[in-house]
Amino acid sequence: MSVLVPPAVIGIVGGGQLGRMLAQVAQRHGYRTAVLTGGGERSPAGSVADIEIAAPFYDAAATRRLVACADVITWELEDVDLGVADAAADAGIPVRPRPQALAAAADRAAEKRALIAAGVPVAPYREAGDPSELAAAVAALDGPVMLKTARGGYDGKGQVRLPATGTEPVRAEALTEVFRRLGSVRLIVEREVPFDREVSVVIARTETGAIADHGVMENAHVDGILDTTTVPARLPEEVTAAALGIAGQVARHLDIVGVLCVEMFVVGSELVVNEIAPRPHNSGHCTIEAAATSQFEQQLRAVCGLPLGDGTCRPAAMAQLLGHLWADGEPAWSEALTDPGIHLHLYGKREPRPGRKMGHLTCVDATPELALKRVFAARDRLSS
Ligand code: AMP
Repeated sequence: MSVLVPPAVIGIVGGGQLGRMLAQVAQRHGYRTAVLTGGGERSPAGSVADIEIAAPFYDAAATRRLVACADVITWELEDVDLGVADAAADAGIPVRPRPQALAAAADRAAEKRALIAAGVPVAPYREAGDPSELAAAVAALDGPVMLKTARGGYDGKGQVRLPATGTEPVRAEALTEVFRRLGSVRLIVEREVPFDREVSVVIARTETGAIADHGVMENAHVDGILDTTTVPARLPEEVTAAALGIAGQVARHLDIVGVLCVEMFVVGSELVVNEIAPRPHNSGHCTIEAAATSQFEQQLRAVCGLPLGDGTCRPAAMAQLLGHLWADGEPAWSEALTDPGIHLHLYGKREPRPGRKMGHLTCVDATPELALKRVFAARDRLSS
């Protein structure tokens, strides 16, 4: 594989905060960046990139423009039209990770099949394409279940929990109504996992198969949205080793070149894989301050054919900043920043909406608990 060196152009598909933080690292190294936003101008990634192409992902002329100016194509999201990969293949431009890895993560049914083929544990599940299949799935899984749309769901959107019904069969009309509410689309029906913790592993892999991780992150969600991450997760050594092993197994199976996040539930000393993302992940944001080499630098290194850096994390915590913090205008940044150990990241989004990820705070400290206390305190000061 040829090594791409500065000032090569990194073509990024997706205009969000993950692309923005990749573009920032790329620029620090002297690379140039071109972003296909999938939407409008002045996107979080596009506004820091050298070239912003503000067009939908399916726009053939826009994808050709991206490919024409890029030396490599990478992604900051997976649920995306893959036409850009075809355009890149026609032009002989490498695409990392390859589109098949994205396809496996973009559809929950394909994802389950890929995880099973990779030999890692997943929750018992069924696919359902209509209300009668849904009824059969709910009966077969026999317990509380999560219904998830196969495509398009994120941050808890497109999901409904159905409690256990005991001996009462769920009424067909009720299931038809839930199916309709979820958009009458293909669903995954998944047994609810009684987890003790939620964790994730962010792993980078090169074309030659070298891998590097950042340890295991521990994640807390509020209303289905990642709220905080602490690293390292509070896990026995053997569970940590098993989580890292599972992530490596999935990365090898999907032949990832780039970064992969594997989200898992911890149940006692067992692990169950929830979902994967073939790109940097929200739970890896604290690597910017906690590790010598962040998840974004690892992505850059992997897609450019450079050796991976040291991703080992010092104890750290991240707290998300959502749009509701802007309800009364600009948050009181100076209050949060009175603690000089607090690092502020804002994504440059101009419209704060409730539930929208606007930025995050990170802190590195002697323990993850201390770091978490400080990011919580800083976030509280923003709105007090
Ligand atoms: P997901 O979009 O699949 O990551 O789901 C969002 C959140 O919903 C997860 O982080 C969990 O907190 C919860 N969740 C999803 N699937 C399950 C499950 N099978 N059992 C228990 N909780 C779940």
